[in-house]
Amino acid sequence: MEKIKVNKEKCLGCGMCVGINSDVFEFDDDGLAKANNEKITEENEEEVKEAINSCPVSAIEKEEK
Ligand code: SF4
Repeated sequence: MEKIKVNKEKCLGCGMCVGINSDVFEFDDDGLAKANNEKITEENEEEVKEAINSCPVSAIEKEEK
């Protein structure tokens, strides 16, 4: 799947994405989420999509090329 990133301007630090998959999503030092693209696998891709759709402020975005 395409690379993703957390838009820190939008992220609330609610932890929803981290709760869905804590390999791909984790809290950064600033208390907001960050995405680890290298941890995305075929097995967890559906969870990543679920996290994208579950984020209350749609902060998980495609990474600009
Ligand atoms: S679900 Fe969205 S708002 Fe909540 S921590 Fe993750 S990126 Fe931030």
